[in-house]
Amino acid sequence: GQCVMVCPTGALAERDQTDEVLNFLADPEITTVFQMAPAVRVGFGEEFGMPTGTNVEGQIIAALRKIGADIILDTNFAADVVIMEEGTELLGHLKEKKRPTFTSCCPAWINFAEKHYPEILPMLSSTRSPQAVLGSLAKTYLAEKRNIDPKKMRVVSIMPCTAKKEEAARPVLGKNGVPDVDVVLTVREFARLLRREGIDLKEIQPSAYDDPHMSEYTGAGAIFGTTGGVMEAAARTLYYVINGKELEHVEISQLRGFDNVRTANINLGGEFGEIKVALCHGLKGTRDIVEAVKAGKVDFDFIEVMACPGGCVDGGGTLRSKKAYIPLAMKRRETLFNVDRQTKARQSHNNTQVQKLYADYLEAPYSHKSHDLLHTEYCSRPFGVPADMEQAWHELHEQG
Ligand code: SF4
Repeated sequence: GQCVMVCPTGALAERDQTDEVLNFLADPEITTVFQMAPAVRVGFGEEFGMPTGTNVEGQIIAALRKIGADIILDTNFAADVVIMEEGTELLGHLKEKKRPTFTSCCPAWINFAEKHYPEILPMLSSTRSPQAVLGSLAKTYLAEKRNIDPKKMRVVSIMPCTAKKEEAARPVLGKNGVPDVDVVLTVREFARLLRREGIDLKEIQPSAYDDPHMSEYTGAGAIFGTTGGVMEAAARTLYYVINGKELEHVEISQLRGFDNVRTANINLGGEFGEIKVALCHGLKGTRDIVEAVKAGKVDFDFIEVMACPGGCVDGGGTLRSKKAYIPLAMKRRETLFNVDRQTKARQSHNNTQVQKLYADYLEAPYSHKSHDLLHTEYCSRPFGVPADMEQAWHELHEQG
């Protein structure tokens, strides 16, 4: 059934998949589609000796073109789609007074819940993560728009953690045994791949996206790479959906600290008024909050969980010193916040490519088709879960 999860003995986490990607690129029959996660652009420059937090989005796009990528997309686009879906889902839960709803975009957190807290799985948002949403839409919507046979398409993700490899291998995140995301490269592997191809990121002229369907993103999508980002992004869109006008103060400063657990009240207006939100990162904060929910000691409406302290901005990168994580993560995060301030639109619902996706293809958030392509399910797995939350954070930091 759906709940059979086969993990090739955790081998995925160890395996370097740069060869596979080079094989796709060398095959003229294959259309290669790349995506980069929100946090990758602010952590990747360090691999090439650039200052912490430098935004190298343009250089990554140029480097991908140079190695022969056919289509380059942004996971940030999919983050905007996630907000449309998860926001609608959350609104439904608020109406039913079903609380709390937990976010679901960090696969190390999902693994943790499936292993240790199966009783809370019904509270997890069913919306797939941005990486999975992008893979699914690439092989359906994009393939249709660009007239490509999805069987000849390979989707490659550049991601801040190995937990994303296991996520991509989940049988439910594919069609007829073919995964939506074919290969996940960690930032480290991607750096190795570029070096093998003789590319120095410092020497390359930045370029820009040219795909008209799935590369635009808003400030809301950009801040998914740091803790609190999902929550802020959701608040902006929920407020608009409820009140028919934009939220004035889009930055929620109470959520922007580095404490393990942070809480805030957000006024959504309309029939809902204030909702109570929390976010946590790291193992301790997460355990504390899940235990408190189970014991009925807290009554949050929405809880964001990220395995890595600081979120994905500290999922990978090049730093080796554990003590240094906060300053490094802060610099990377500051860059994401600046990206948010500089984007044309700061709300997911104002992403024109997202609007077109719904108008041309999905109809509406949470529609039948959306359900099919953009949602998933979880199952109790007391054994055989390959990575735990702490491991997800330590892994890349400990590799030399
Ligand atoms: Fe991966 Fe860490 Fe981000 Fe979770 S928080 S998706 S484990 S980088």
